[in-house]
Amino acid sequence: MLKRLLGAAVLAGAALASLSAQTPRYDLLLRNGLIVDGTGSPWFRGDLAISGDTIAAMAHRIEAPATRTIDVAGAVIAPGFIDIHTHARRGIFDVPTADNYVRQGVTTLLEGPDGSSAVPLAPFLTKLEALQKTPNIGSFIGQGSIRQAVIGEVNRAATPADMERMTGLVEQGMKDGAFGLSTGLFYVPGTFTPTAEVVALAKVAGRFGGSHVSHQRDDASGVLDSVKETIAIGELGGLPTQITHHKVIGQANWGRTVDTLKLVDDARARGVDVTIDVYPYTASSTSIGAALVPAWALEGGRAQTLARLKDPAQRDKIRAATIAMIRDERGGGDPKNVQLASCGFDAALAGKTLADVARTRSGGASLEQAADATLWIVEQGGCQGVFHAMSDDDLDRIIRHPATMIASDGEVPIFGRAVPHPRSYGTFVRVLGTYVRERHLLTLEDAVRKMTAFPAARLGLRDRGILRPGLKADVAVFDPATVADTATYTQPHQYAVGVSLVVINGQIAVEDGKVTTARPGRVLRK
Ligand SMILES: [Zn+2]
Repeated sequence: MLKRLLGAAVLAGAALASLSAQTPRYDLLLRNGLIVDGTGSPWFRGDLAISGDTIAAMAHRIEAPATRTIDVAGAVIAPGFIDIHTHARRGIFDVPTADNYVRQGVTTLLEGPDGSSAVPLAPFLTKLEALQKTPNIGSFIGQGSIRQAVIGEVNRAATPADMERMTGLVEQGMKDGAFGLSTGLFYVPGTFTPTAEVVALAKVAGRFGGSHVSHQRDDASGVLDSVKETIAIGELGGLPTQITHHKVIGQANWGRTVDTLKLVDDARARGVDVTIDVYPYTASSTSIGAALVPAWALEGGRAQTLARLKDPAQRDKIRAATIAMIRDERGGGDPKNVQLASCGFDAALAGKTLADVARTRSGGASLEQAADATLWIVEQGGCQGVFHAMSDDDLDRIIRHPATMIASDGEVPIFGRAVPHPRSYGTFVRVLGTYVRERHLLTLEDAVRKMTAFPAARLGLRDRGILRPGLKADVAVFDPATVADTATYTQPHQYAVGVSLVVINGQIAVEDGKVTTARPGRVLRK
């Protein structure tokens, strides 16, 4: 009897043991990858295991079983990409899967760039919390939006009472979870802000551990002064400062990145924490009005702009400035270098160039005729544009610089609608395909660092951006031999290729190149 009981107990024990051997230790196990951990260290062949939303193990070989095991067979396993400059609020509520980003391996988006954010930030972040979304999202607080709320679009100095309100709004933004202060000193009303006023607000963001990131005042003939200003804001404000989407616009200014990067190197050598981000394209994108109409003509808002355009003397003055801006700045010297991305007043204009519009309206595409077409567009309600006015040499120099990270400056497009800049669909995979594989301008490990650990460190995101047990499981898996962008200026609505698997907070967000039904994205706060 005893013997039989003992025998049964032994049998039961054996059954338990074999059951526990089969009980999965991990939720997801990726096998046989080339692990590029985000730090810039050389890849190693290995496995990565995930439990819940966290990386549980990473080693040359992981034997313990997982609920799901995927053999990625020689693909790169990298941290999910962090895009520090996006306009994702354009579109994220329509397309909460942000397919254009996650299919590139982007797992975190930062909003509120260029001085433009929700003010106050808290309701916007609450609305994002409620949204079932695929990527993680965080935000900066925008100086332009704050100045707009307190002073309006007018060109005047801030009073002490204005300053008190504006510093209060920056403080509130930081308490709400902003990662820092963004400025857009190129745009109205940011352009009316003296440097000292920005410094005063930057100090507040710095007190909360935030950084400053700037769309600079002038990226054309004044680019050197603008870089000096961005550096000064960091130096006087006592916080990290970043030149966002660094660029040099206008053929007469090409080559000046030799000098701008020297300014950055010199500033870093004396201890100023200045960094750069860039997108891998030689065309920029913003509104036709901001790009080709002088800021003074936009002061006070649309009604005042239209009134100035109705006054013949003022119109002549604006037209002369617009001619110069087409010739020397974002117009790239020729109206065919300006492409319309989307026009609220006439969807059929998307994809046409400013030269096309000028010819339709006046039979020719001289600089003068293009300026007339520009002012007509502004009067009709305006368009977004794509502006071909940068050089590849400058772009190469910026991308290679060790203090440069990658960011798209893109948005979440509605698939097929209008003809937006391809950067929203292609930035990260274009760097991996063109700049790493084809041109050998960057190593794979350095490119991944510029998309992961570097922006994470900039944001103070200590639990993302690197592959390490204990950190959040945001992971991008791609084939280094085929990863590429397919979006072009004329056919931008084309997804990345070569990214087979994307994991966000431990959940599979992209599999076999397709977005899944998971909505793992979280709102991130500083
Ligand atoms: Zn910008």
